[in-house]
Parts: sequence; structure tokens; C-alpha cells
Amino acid sequence: MNGDGLWKQVLDKVRLKVTPQTYEMWFSETKLLRCDDKIGEIGCKNQYIAHALEERYYMLLKACLAEISGKEVDLAFRVKPELAMQKRTIAEDLTSPMFRTSENKIDEVDFNKLLKESGLNPKYTFDNFIVGSSNRLAQAAALAVCENPGKAYNPLFIYGGVGLGKTHLLQAIGHKSLELNPELKVLYVDTEHMLNELYEGIRRQTMKEFREKYRRLDVFLLDDIQFISGKEALQEEFFNTFNTLYHAGKQMVVASDRPPSEISKLEERVRSRLAGGLVADITVPDFEMRVAILQKKLEQDNIALPEAVVMAIAECVKYNIRELEGALNTIVVYVRSTGKMITVEEVKRQLQKNKKDMKRKISVGEVLNVVSEYFGVGVDDIRGSRRTADVAFARQVVMYILRDLLELPLIKIASAVRRQDHTTVLHAVRKIEEALKRDPSFRTRVDEIKTSLLQKTRRL
Ligand code: ADP
Ligand code: MG
Repeated sequence: MNGDGLWKQVLDKVRLKVTPQTYEMWFSETKLLRCDDKIGEIGCKNQYIAHALEERYYMLLKACLAEISGKEVDLAFRVKPELAMQKRTIAEDLTSPMFRTSENKIDEVDFNKLLKESGLNPKYTFDNFIVGSSNRLAQAAALAVCENPGKAYNPLFIYGGVGLGKTHLLQAIGHKSLELNPELKVLYVDTEHMLNELYEGIRRQTMKEFREKYRRLDVFLLDDIQFISGKEALQEEFFNTFNTLYHAGKQMVVASDRPPSEISKLEERVRSRLAGGLVADITVPDFEMRVAILQKKLEQDNIALPEAVVMAIAECVKYNIRELEGALNTIVVYVRSTGKMITVEEVKRQLQKNKKDMKRKISVGEVLNVVSEYFGVGVDDIRGSRRTADVAFARQVVMYILRDLLELPLIKIASAVRRQDHTTVLHAVRKIEEALKRDPSFRTRVDEIKTSLLQKTRRL
């Protein structure tokens, strides 16, 4: 049997196991380039498809190939642009920017372009999203939205601290929706981007285009909506877009670093729309989940580390998955550069050093600013004499963070908040520590403040 005949039979098997849309999208333009006893090389028309097949359908393809050829081989995916069919009938919608070519006629659906214009990054899919108690509800809701767009929960509002997977989940919804139905118009944008577009639209008098772009979507994924706070024109546009999409049964998914009730300077009608579907939060991952995330990353990058080392990394970074990935990189780089296996003690030392370097970059002023912004209390009040409950509380949080994160001496902390002596500081730190033990949602908020401080130094 020649390669083409063999491949046709393999694809016939695949076809029985996936939906017609999935088949059309991922498998219909593939070809077996070569197959020997060890390896089968599969040609795909672009990187997006090659990546998706490798990530999601590797085992399926391998099994189907083994059934037909009788050989268990490894698979490799190669990009062969010539595999793109000349004519595709997948989208008839001439007006869609996603499907338009420069001559304004449908040539072929270029998935790279589709991907780019939908704002999706192939890195973030459901397959590499680890599920644990901290994100189970959000992940299940996200999947439900893909399976029943516009019907399951609308909008789906996902919130949680920095680096906990909100963007990943939003993006995963985009990929999955397209996978289930490649004809959907899916768009991922972050709120700052949308705001810039809005200003641009006002300036150039192209508001009509701006509105059309958003109101014709089937799945609208809007990230970091907390930035809508205080932006009246954007709130107005969002409100109208929301209503149009909602009444047309289109799906909206929104991510934010806080729940709708805590976004300040937000019109009430917008707030109630945002909270009107399902509001699901993502909290900090527990130890098992952190280990699972690290193992998944290692598996993806084909790197082996002893389990004790992986556990030591998971032990060191608790509050932010982006930081966790950063810590893993630090260790992998260290192992590669020394050429020896690393000990658990050395892992701790390396990551501690990292943390210290970051801490050194955080100033007292930044802590004051971030806490003041977070609680909506002025810096002058925190350093002043007012004793109202909110001011006193923000002041205590400042003292706690200066102690816990910056590890400053008590005397220095006292002078940072203009207090007489260090017993005030000790008292404040203890009070906050107790509150942290009692109240998990308060813990999440303090973690958020910490990670946003750490992230600021990362960006420097
Ligand atoms: P957020 O938008 O909440 O700040 P991101 O979605 O950007 O966070 O996630 C930060 C990093 O952590 C990304 O690289 C993402 O892939 C990874 N990540 C977050 N949650 C998970 C998870 N549950 N499983 C695997 N990786 C995750
Ligand atoms: Mg994000």
C-alpha cells in the first residue's frame, strides 16, 4: 500500500471518532509524508494545525495508524503549506474580517490568520490546563460555554488573582469553540486594547466599524475588564455591545482580577449585566495542583527532573502560577548550566535568591501605593492619624506586608507609617496573621497585593 492509500484508511478511522467539524478543521488537509519502522511523518498545511494535532490528537492518530499499518511508530508533524486546498467553502461570510483576503474574496481559510485575528495564542488550551479545587468550577463552566455557546451561562464572569489562569481559560474557550465549530466568529481582546480602539474610533470617526466589529461576534472573550473602571465611554459601548450580543444569543466571557461588586467606578447597569450570568472565581492552587502543573510543563518540554526537586519547587512558590513556571525555568536553566543534577537544598537556595533579588527591588513607597489603591484609602491617611476602620485596616495591611514580604525591621516599619514605636507594628502584624488564618477570601486578597507587587518588580 502506498502512503496516500494508507493515510486515507487512517483518516477514515479518525473520521469515525471525531465530529465532522473537528475532522474538517484538523485532519482533512493532512498527508502522510513518510513512514518507516520508527517514525511516521505527517504533513500539515500550517503550524497551527501541526501544533493542535500534536497536542490533542497525537494518541488518536498513533492508534489509528497502528491499526491500519500494524506498526507502533512515533509521529512527527511537518508544515507543508502546499497542502492547503485552493478552494474552501467553510465560510461564506464575505464581510468577516477573519475570512477576508486582500482581494476581498474567499480563497482559503488560513488558520494562522484566523488565529491571529481572533487574538488566540496556541499555547493556551484546555488540554494543558490543570484542574484542581481552586479552578474546578471555572473550568467546568468554561467547557459548558464551549458546548452550548450563548446558552449555558451568559456572561460567564471569571475572576481571580494575578497569574492564576484567567487568560489561559479565556483563550482555551476560544480554541475549543473554534474546534467545535470553525465557522464561529471568535475574538479575544483585553480591555486596554478595546479602549485604545475606542479612542482611535472616536478620533478617526470610525465608530461604526468599531461597533460592527464587536457586535457581529459569536463568542466575545474580554480580558481584564477591571480596567473599564472609570472609563465612561467604554462602559457605554460595552453596555450596548453586551445587549446586542446577549439578545442575539451570542456568548460573552469576561475575566477580571476582582468580582463585579468590587470594580470601582462602574455604572450600575453594567455591573448588573456582568453579574447576571455565572460568576466563578479561581483561587490559589494547592500543593498537589502545583506539582501537577510543573509535571505537565516538564512533560510538554520533554525535560526530566527528579520528583523531589519538582516538589521542592512547588513548595517554594505558592501564590502565582506564572511565578511557578518562572521558578521551574530558573531551575532548568541552572541544571543545564551546571550539567549536574540539583539537590533539594540547592533548589531552595536558588529560588530564595530569586525572591530576595525581587524583594530588594520593592520600595516602601510602592507598598503604600499598591495597598492604598487596593483599599481605596489615601496614602496620606495611611501615614496620618485617622483611625476609621478602613484606614486602620489598610495601615495594618501595609505593616504586615512590609514585614512579611520585605522583611523590614520593626523600627523601620513604624517610621514608614509614621508610628511611634514598634509594638504597634507587632500588634498589627499579629492581627493580620490571625485574619489570614480565619478568612480564606482575605488571604486571597492579600496574596493578590503581594503578587501585584512582585510582578511590578518583574516588569522592571
Ligand atoms: P492570569 O490571566 O490569571 O493572570 P494566566 O492565564 O496568564 O493568568 O496564567 C499565568 C501562567 O500560568 C500561564 O503561563 C498559564 O499557562 C499558567 N497556568 C495558569 N493556570 C494554569 C493551570 N490550571 N494549568 C496549567 N497552567 C496554568
Ligand atoms: Mg491575564
